[in-house]
Amino acid sequence: MTVYHTKVLILGSGPAGCTAAIYASRANLEPIIATGLQHGGQLTTCSEIENFPGFAEPVQSTWLMEQLQKQAEHFGATFLNDTIINIDLSKRPFVAIGDSKDTYYGDTVIIATGACARWLGIKSELKFRGFGISICATCDGFFFRKKNIAVVGGGNSAAQETIYLSKIANKVTLIHRRDSLRAEKIIQDRLFALSNVEIIWNSIIDEIIGSDNPPNVTAILLKNVKTDILSELPVDGLFIAIGHNPNSSLFKSQLELDNEGYIITKCGTTQTSVPGVFAAGDIQDKIYKQAITAAGTGCMSAQEANAFLS
Ligand SMILES: Cc1cc2nc3c(=O)[nH]c(=O)nc-3n(C[C@H](O)[C@H](O)[C@H](O)COP(=O)(O)OP(=O)(O)OC[C@H]3O[C@@H](n4cnc5c(N)ncnc54)[C@H](O)[C@@H]3O)c2cc1C
Repeated sequence: MTVYHTKVLILGSGPAGCTAAIYASRANLEPIIATGLQHGGQLTTCSEIENFPGFAEPVQSTWLMEQLQKQAEHFGATFLNDTIINIDLSKRPFVAIGDSKDTYYGDTVIIATGACARWLGIKSELKFRGFGISICATCDGFFFRKKNIAVVGGGNSAAQETIYLSKIANKVTLIHRRDSLRAEKIIQDRLFALSNVEIIWNSIIDEIIGSDNPPNVTAILLKNVKTDILSELPVDGLFIAIGHNPNSSLFKSQLELDNEGYIITKCGTTQTSVPGVFAAGDIQDKIYKQAITAAGTGCMSAQEANAFLS
């Protein structure tokens, strides 16, 4: 069991945590980063990234995350393969316990634990993830130019993703399990005005159909929840927009969270409800959810931690 003390303890090694580490280490704060189980963050679950600024060609996402880590290490950051299982934000210094049983004292804490997209939980979904099934229209919409696609969901995200995709795809079919959307009225009005969008109500996705080698989505099997009737809808891709789960359970009752579990930060900053604790990336962002926005708030959090310490 090792005990560490650092000026800046960073939880998470995605774009937010790594960028915070780069800025904190360049400020001589010698940050320690507990990487969590998903070393490199969500991006390591997709093969390539095309919209991270600075690269004319698509780059391997895992390579990109390795570069961010190496850059931070170059300036003195220490990455430790550990997941924080307990944290006390009422004490100074803050104290966290890792899965390894190691103890981390931090004069400041940057939380960059991200969020997990909710998946449908059907078997065929796993097979086609990244091969026709996506959870991010901004990231992957481009691959479906002039194609026929479906979006599943009924909230603001699903409606907005459908509107975004309607400008790229030939036709977008929105699948919703109820007979009305939860999305705000103004967004619904915009959606209903689109000529290449169709909505299929009262339906869930029973199965995803496609070819094997290479995996490729060709249709989805829909089940009407009122009649139990199954029908096949030919599509080239499916976007799942049924929400995200922020990884914030550790901070419940210690930090202010919104009703979906996202950490609330003071407007225009990464400051949480506890002075000296900052939140960056998807854990505090339910709108943009991009690698570059996570990196941007990671940068802010390190600078704010530095200002707090001095
Ligand atoms: C399949 C897929 C494709 C995507 N494609 C793109 C794209 O093309 N372009 C784009 O800009 N964005 C894309 N995104 C979104 C992008 O990956 C996220 O917006 C970004 O990774 C968020 O960064 P983050 O650092 O906030 O969190 P994450 O990347 O989620 O990282 C969270 C980190 O926290 C760690 N962690 C969690 N709990 C703990 C704990 N208790 N203790 C310590 N560490 C912990 C995890 O191990 C992980 O390292 C994609 C996402 C997915 C899932």
